[in-house]
Amino acid sequence: MNKVLIANRGEIALRILRACRELGISTVAVHSEADRDLKHVRLADESVCIGPAQSAESYLNIPAIIAAAEVTDSVGIHPGYGFLSENADFAERVESSGFVFIGPKAETIRLMGDKVSAKNAMLEAGVPCVPGSARALGEDPEENIKLAREIGYPVIIKAAGGGGGRGMRVVNAEGALINAISVTKGEALAAFNNDTVYMEKFLEKPRHVEFQVLSDGQGHAVHLCERDCSMQRRHQKVIEEAPAPGITEEQRQRLGDRVVEACIQIGYRGAGTFEFLYENGEFYFIEMNTRLQVEHPVTEMITGVDLVKQQLRIAGGHPLELRQAEIEINGHAIECRINAEDPTNFMPSPGTISQYHCPGGPGIRVDTHIYNGYRIPPYYDSMIGKLISHGEDRKTAMARMCGALQEIVVDGIKTNIPLHRELLNDEGFRRGRTDIHYLEKKLAVSS
Ligand code: ADP
Repeated sequence: MNKVLIANRGEIALRILRACRELGISTVAVHSEADRDLKHVRLADESVCIGPAQSAESYLNIPAIIAAAEVTDSVGIHPGYGFLSENADFAERVESSGFVFIGPKAETIRLMGDKVSAKNAMLEAGVPCVPGSARALGEDPEENIKLAREIGYPVIIKAAGGGGGRGMRVVNAEGALINAISVTKGEALAAFNNDTVYMEKFLEKPRHVEFQVLSDGQGHAVHLCERDCSMQRRHQKVIEEAPAPGITEEQRQRLGDRVVEACIQIGYRGAGTFEFLYENGEFYFIEMNTRLQVEHPVTEMITGVDLVKQQLRIAGGHPLELRQAEIEINGHAIECRINAEDPTNFMPSPGTISQYHCPGGPGIRVDTHIYNGYRIPPYYDSMIGKLISHGEDRKTAMARMCGALQEIVVDGIKTNIPLHRELLNDEGFRRGRTDIHYLEKKLAVSS
């Protein structure tokens, strides 16, 4: 693979470009009319404008991206995260047009994109799942009432095609069950064009713990430890860390073995993440992300493995050279997502960056596309970068993050940096092991 088209924007496009450069791979940037000034567009060997600012007409425009790959003679297409990264039809179109999709096979994306089929595949592979139906709910109210009694209230009704935290409804008592099923079905049909719903136990105070994997689709797979992403607001991760506080080596090995086995069973190819809810010492699978994650740097920092380079190698058909025994955890890493938004009401804050000072020092990594004078367009996600710290232990990683948050200057727009400064000094976060509702509760109290 000697030329890669990067079908994304912002910090992740730059991250992919850097990995390509290291491997001597030429790069093609595709961008919307609003994104001519993106850093990676300037650095790429070639660039192609694929449409107007609106994502639907540019970054989600499959024919325009395929055409750009054709005119530039690209070999591979890297989808990054978001946009088309988990779109099975896109993966199929890329491959049928003669390019390499840097990710899993379309059929794997499809299997994992449907939560009912994903859950069944995981149960078959021996991965622990949330107790529940593991199949689509039928029309018979008596059956559904019986099932909910077996599971025990509260239960959650979830859309098989759901995503982004949408298409879910918690039911606390039997009286509300039947109505909740029909409402969720209606919403799911409207939002995802698929009215299949299923039922599982609603866990009340779980943590979000996820396992990173690499698998070559040729029979070799490894896991790269877990991450804790419990600091969330509206199902959006705000801070992530690796390893997850309090997870023992024995738990890591046990679940790690299971996810590796699952990768081999489903013939998984590429980098992926198994997401779990973790409560009372038990893991429960909720979904698999068949792509690179925003929070991949924390795993890179503690394992020393470059996940994007590994993705490129696997897509190039090379068998995985890494062996599980070689993967060692070195210290602790934390990532703060920096958003262009008001830190109090979370409203997006696009605009021109008048002044940017990048933090540094031992154990600090900054993944961002911003620079002095860069104008953040209003059309896309508000995340403008990630601040990552690494140290020999959690305490050191936290101290380094505190320092970096003091050093960093982003003027001209509002950012959530003040919120991160506060969170790094928060007693609950400092202790670790907070559940997924912790941040929202804290914000509710302080507002
Ligand atoms: P999505 O694809 O929309 O992200 P997920 O299945 O990953 O959907 O669930 C999103 C979030 O919803 C989880 O991170 C968790 O906060 C909550 N959630 C999902 N299933 C359960 C459950 N069984 N119990 C408690 N919370 C749940």
